Amino acid sequence: MQGQNFIAGRWIDGITPFTTANPSDLDETVGHYSKLGESEVREAMAAARAAQPGWAACNMQVRADILRKAGDILLARSEEIGTLLSREEGKTRAEGIGETIRAAQCFHYAAGDVVRAQGEFYHSMRDGFNVLVTREPVGVVAAITPWNFPIALPSWKVAGALAYGNAVVLKPSSFVPGCAVMLAQVLEAAGLPAGVFNLVMGDGRATGNIMIDEADALTFTGGTATGRLVLARAAETMTKCQLELGGKNALVVLDDADLDLAVDIASNGAWIQTGQRCTGTERLIVTRGVHDAFVERMAGVAKAYRVGHALDPQTQIGPVANTQQFNENLKFVRDAQAEGAELVAGAGAVECRTRGLFMAPTLLVGTQGAWRCNQHESFGPIASVIRVDDLDEAIAVANACAYKLSSGIATSSLRNAERFRRESLAGMVMINAPTAGLEYHVPLGGRSPSGYGPRETGAATAEFFTESKTSYINHGAI
Ligand code: NAD
Repeated sequence: MQGQNFIAGRWIDGITPFTTANPSDLDETVGHYSKLGESEVREAMAAARAAQPGWAACNMQVRADILRKAGDILLARSEEIGTLLSREEGKTRAEGIGETIRAAQCFHYAAGDVVRAQGEFYHSMRDGFNVLVTREPVGVVAAITPWNFPIALPSWKVAGALAYGNAVVLKPSSFVPGCAVMLAQVLEAAGLPAGVFNLVMGDGRATGNIMIDEADALTFTGGTATGRLVLARAAETMTKCQLELGGKNALVVLDDADLDLAVDIASNGAWIQTGQRCTGTERLIVTRGVHDAFVERMAGVAKAYRVGHALDPQTQIGPVANTQQFNENLKFVRDAQAEGAELVAGAGAVECRTRGLFMAPTLLVGTQGAWRCNQHESFGPIASVIRVDDLDEAIAVANACAYKLSSGIATSSLRNAERFRRESLAGMVMINAPTAGLEYHVPLGGRSPSGYGPRETGAATAEFFTESKTSYINHGAI
């Protein structure tokens, strides 16, 4: 893959070349790219600024058709894009294709949003007046994205922003820019006017700061530490912000749970996609009566997974996405053991045919809720078990963590499920379902510090990507 930046409808090389490696085989280079200098990033912001009014004024059906066509092209190219995703990020090929299909669905949904956009009419307190509340594009949107969903995540941000008449500058993670290049190709082929979508590659801080300074709104997904920096920068220009950040998601398993289902959803949440989902399960809070049976079954599942090259159809768990994350994961497990955690599955790095970043699904037991391993996000295939007495203690432990993104409970009692749903402080709650696995037609996000500002996707899209205008109209006596 030779991937260029895309500014004002032109493909351009940057000034600092870089490459990406296949995490399944570090000896294979996947992409050649280049980072832009400051002036080109400013050029991209200016291109978006110039193109935005024309896009907002463009006929509604034309805008909807372009977004629908983008979805169609993503579907038609899903095997190609999914395979690149798999080579660059390390998800299995099936997961890569599935993620591309999700990206297409986001564009199809956004096409519908174009024609569904609504306003409100009010009668007035004053005779001869009425009041309208309408929504207008926020303007130029800066989108900054992480490495773990390289096609779906940029797509739901870009599709939502475009649906409401905004222009976008996207900066993908430098670990996985290939899918963003393909997204730019898709939007160009769909007929999006030049400058309405721009792709820039660059260092997070330097490029990010220019984007934040010059945008009307910033939609950011990444780690909480980066989110704090971004928010501080945005405060200087009072740029509107939407931040989706880290998680430390808890699944509660009660004695009354269906054990087969509990093991299924816990293992899915903890280890599928190599644990690299912000909504993945990192804490398993299990009541005493079922604890030992649950741990034994989970350890068996962890050991049975086939870990390997992402393009091998037999592989269930692909590699860790990059060397930095891989080293952090191994250190996380060592630190947890030093704290007192017992390792019952997963012995660190796994050897395969290729020189990849393979890590065994890991289960830690005998941990306490307050320990570091239960308070800090690992973002790897690592889950720790906390034994508790009952639902009261389970809820208290689940909520005694700064992160508040997603949570779940496995129980056969509707009453227990409803109590957990109400009392959990997480932004998303799953009943008898994995903490990960989101749908695109409803809002996603967490409470601070797992999120900040309006939620993303579904009906929340309009809230962030538009500004409200209230108009008082003196039409005179009728
Ligand atoms: P990261 O914070 O390191 O990077 C995210 C993006 O921010 C990248 O594009 C990076 O280049 C850019 N960046 C870095 N420093 C910046 C700065 N100072 N200003 C502006 N931009 C900057 O995150 P990551 O390692 O790519 O992704 C993993 C994290 O993302 C995890 O914490 C995960 O939980 C989180 N995440 C959250 C959600 C959610 O919906 N809540 C979804 C996916 C991932």
